[in-house]
Amino acid sequence: MLLTASGCGDVTEAYADLGARALAEAEALVVAHPQRIAGVDSECVAQWICQRLGTGAELQPFDTPKGTMVNVVKPHPSPVAILVSHYDTKAGIPGFVGANDGASTTGLLLALAATMELPVTYLFLDGEECLERYTATDGLHGSWYYAKHAAAAPRPPVIVLDMLGDKVFTPGLASNATYSLNQLIRRAAQRIKLPLADAGEIIDDHVPFLIEGWRAADIIDFDYGPANGWWHTADDTMDKLSAESLARSAALVVEIVQLLKEEQL
Ligand SMILES: [Zn+2]
Repeated sequence: MLLTASGCGDVTEAYADLGARALAEAEALVVAHPQRIAGVDSECVAQWICQRLGTGAELQPFDTPKGTMVNVVKPHPSPVAILVSHYDTKAGIPGFVGANDGASTTGLLLALAATMELPVTYLFLDGEECLERYTATDGLHGSWYYAKHAAAAPRPPVIVLDMLGDKVFTPGLASNATYSLNQLIRRAAQRIKLPLADAGEIIDDHVPFLIEGWRAADIIDFDYGPANGWWHTADDTMDKLSAESLARSAALVVEIVQLLKEEQL
C-alpha cells in the first residue's frame, strides 16, 4: 500500500513492509560483511551490493592512496534525484559493524530499489569514513570521485541519507546544503507529518557534491544513544535499529521524489 499525497493514514503502517525489508537488508549486510573497510574490503562488499541490486547495477572502482575503493551505482536514464548512502565502516574501532552508520541506509536504498519504481539513481558510496579527520585526502572518497567524474548532465539533486535506522528516530537536515532542496525536503516531511530537525553543519557525503557545484542535501539522525554514545563504537549494532524508523525514512524519500517530480527543481 502506498501513502497518498493527501497524507491520510499512518506513515509507519503504510510503509511497514518496506521498513521491514530495509531492516532485513541492513542485517544481511552486517552479517555478510561486518567489517567494510574502504580500500580493504571494498571489492567483496561492492559485489555483494551489486548482486543484491540485480540487473543494471554497476561497480565504479577508483584508486586511492589507501587502496582501490568501489562505488556501486544503479543508474536511471532520467533521474529526478540521486539517492545516496555510504556502505563502508570506520577502521580502527574493534567490534564496529556500522549497523546504523552505513548499513541502515544501505538497506533502505536496497529495499527501495527492489520494491519501488522510483525515477532515481541509486548510489552506494565507499570511503565516507575518515581514518583520522576529514581532509582533502581522508574521508568522503566515494563522493569526491562521483561528484568530480559524473557526466556534466544530467545533474539531478543529490539526497544523502545517513544513520536513519535508530529506534529513537530524530532525523534532521544538515544546514550546509542547497537551500531550495532543504526547503523541498521540509515540505515533503510536513506532508507526512514527520518532524525534521536542523542538524547544523555536517561533514558528510553531500559536501563534495556541493563544492563541485551540484545541488545536495543530507538527511541524518545524528543523535544515536545517550550523548550520541553509540556513534562510531561497537555499540552500533542491529538491536538499536527499528523497521519503523526505516519505514518513516522510506516514506520521506518517496514524498521527496514525488515533490521533485511535481516541481522539477
Ligand atoms: Zn560514520
